[in-house]
Amino acid sequence: MKNNKCHFCSHDGGDILVSNSVLRVIAPLEPEFPGLIRVVWHAHVAEMTDLEPNQRSALMQVVCQVEQLIRDMIKPHKVNLASFGNFVPHLHWHVIPRWEDDAYFPESIWGGKLREVPQSVLQERHQQALDLFEAIRSFDFKSKYNA
Ligand SMILES: [Zn+2]
Repeated sequence: MKNNKCHFCSHDGGDILVSNSVLRVIAPLEPEFPGLIRVVWHAHVAEMTDLEPNQRSALMQVVCQVEQLIRDMIKPHKVNLASFGNFVPHLHWHVIPRWEDDAYFPESIWGGKLREVPQSVLQERHQQALDLFEAIRSFDFKSKYNA
């Protein structure tokens, strides 16, 4: 089921790194947030409880696997997991690498900006994120996490 007015029904939402029968893992390439990944359920549902338990489990296993790959590949100080859907009520999770010197830390990335990050630091982190994207593309999500 699709909703033509919905961003995630009508757009990929970023570069698709992995897609299986039920979800996709995308790199939205946001300049301020190197390595930010979104895991988007394909069907237009708003809440985790719209999914069957096995579907929830598959989604969270993918979210956690992405978190693990972020930790392995870019070693941030912290990883934030978030799911809101207030603006786009189509189930998706944000998996966000955080650094103590990033522009918003320790606030959420939707909080107030606290500092500027030097371009050289951002560029280095975006470079690391390319390795992360490759690791996600290479990871065998399809056989492991189809719901
Ligand atoms: Zn949708």
